[in-house]
Amino acid sequence: MAPQFPPAILNPEIKYRQLFINNQFVPAKDGTTFSVESPITGEEICQVSRAKKADVDAAVAAAKKAYSPGSEWRTMNPKTRALYLNKLADLIDRDRHYIASLESLDCGRHYVTILAGDIQMCIETLRYFAGWCDKDHGKTIPYDKDHFCFTRHEPMGVCGAITPWNVPMIIFFWKLAPCLATGNVLVAKPSELTPLTALYVASLVKEAGFPPGVVNVIPGYGMEAGEALSRHMDVNKIAFTGSGVTGRKIQIAAAESNLKRVSLELGGKSPNIIFSDVNLDYAIQMAHTAIFSNNGQVCCAGSRTFVHEDIYDEFVKRSVKRAQEGQMGDPREFATEHGPQVSKVQKDKILGLLQSGKDQGATVLCGGGSVEDRKGYYVQPTVLTNLKDDMTVSKEEIFGPVQQIYKFKDVSEVIERANNTAYGLAAAVFTNDINKAMEIANSVEAGTVWVNCFFDMNPTAPFGGYKASGIGRDLSEYALREYTQVKVVTIKL
Ligand code: NAD
Repeated sequence: MAPQFPPAILNPEIKYRQLFINNQFVPAKDGTTFSVESPITGEEICQVSRAKKADVDAAVAAAKKAYSPGSEWRTMNPKTRALYLNKLADLIDRDRHYIASLESLDCGRHYVTILAGDIQMCIETLRYFAGWCDKDHGKTIPYDKDHFCFTRHEPMGVCGAITPWNVPMIIFFWKLAPCLATGNVLVAKPSELTPLTALYVASLVKEAGFPPGVVNVIPGYGMEAGEALSRHMDVNKIAFTGSGVTGRKIQIAAAESNLKRVSLELGGKSPNIIFSDVNLDYAIQMAHTAIFSNNGQVCCAGSRTFVHEDIYDEFVKRSVKRAQEGQMGDPREFATEHGPQVSKVQKDKILGLLQSGKDQGATVLCGGGSVEDRKGYYVQPTVLTNLKDDMTVSKEEIFGPVQQIYKFKDVSEVIERANNTAYGLAAAVFTNDINKAMEIANSVEAGTVWVNCFFDMNPTAPFGGYKASGIGRDLSEYALREYTQVKVVTIKL
């Protein structure tokens, strides 16, 4: 029998609903709020304070003060900064059940996956970057006998983080941890669809003892709080994860304001290439996981499954069976495999793209519609074949539980087709032939290539996109460069 969860998991108490500025929870200046609903039921969870320009100004001012010359944070020994980050990780660990239940209710993600996977990733990310606090140093530069020259890695100062709803906590920490480790201060704007865990984490920031203003969390709408943050003259960097449309707007806002630095983690249409020499059971399961995890709402999902012609028919038949096997239901139940989409807007977007696929000649082998007998925003797990590379569904990110299976003949053909996309976030190849795997790995235009695995991630490895999938990298030593500027000091001897 599947484990039964205590009622607290189903109905976590909502402790924080206001903006977090200067280590205080405060209402929006004009007193307005917005509704946060659960995708599981479509019902309101609570109202949350709605940050607008005046609140962004207040949060940025608090951050700027925390970063002012001589401030506690600015003068803190890097080893002490590391202690704060590790303390925050300890508190996340302590409250992991509560945080997982809040996240599941807010974004509809599988509770056990959050508990076992997401929370662990958040903790590991904090601890990994805590380790960098006293290790990211500059270099001495060869010059001539009359000069001594060296570089320093200095913080950017006030940084903004604008984050999406699909894995809210993980992405929040992917920004927060390197930002603070390198000595910056942060104003974070979580998605208006899923602000609750970021607000709870804000309370832990205070409990961990971070000085006021070092971390500020201001939920609100993109066109209000997000836009104001992106245009703010005292913000020196925006770290963004979300759609390409918004990423472009943020880049324009940065260009039109103070030319702040921007890093963008955007969408993908990632190829997953399966050769005929694989263990079929394993490859089918991995291809299934690659697209159906988090109900298809993963930026690096394996959304184009390319299967070698020798195994194509069998692969398709068994993939359909696998898609139909998974239990659909409440993501807080252990056995649930397919949960809801995050919102009605997302559900309707997926259904619209599915219709375009049907209109352009794709075959729906299973699923293909919504689930009307459930509350919440459910879409049936769907498998599409008879796809052409130039169809809308082959080009656009569906961000839903839709597996698209394509047939290929040889390596050069599949490389060309894999790269025939505006995106370049991730790719995967399944084969036992190391030469084929290396040829694919070297030739695909993607920031991440998985060989015989999918979604394997670690804070030690960079994550980010080629082409329209973004600019810059989250995680790893590479992320340190996103939050620091290089100063060269030249001394005449
Ligand atoms: P979105 O772009 O609509 O929203 C992301 C964030 O941007 C939200 O906080 C939103 O309020 C804010 N925003 C919206 N308009 C803004 C504006 N004009 N100025 C400033 N901020 C604004 O994206 P979403 O729908 O929340 O997320 C889904 C998208 O994110 C997908 O395309 C997905 O592929 C992508 N994504 C990418 C990654 C990655 O690491 N590459 C990870 C997760 C999601």
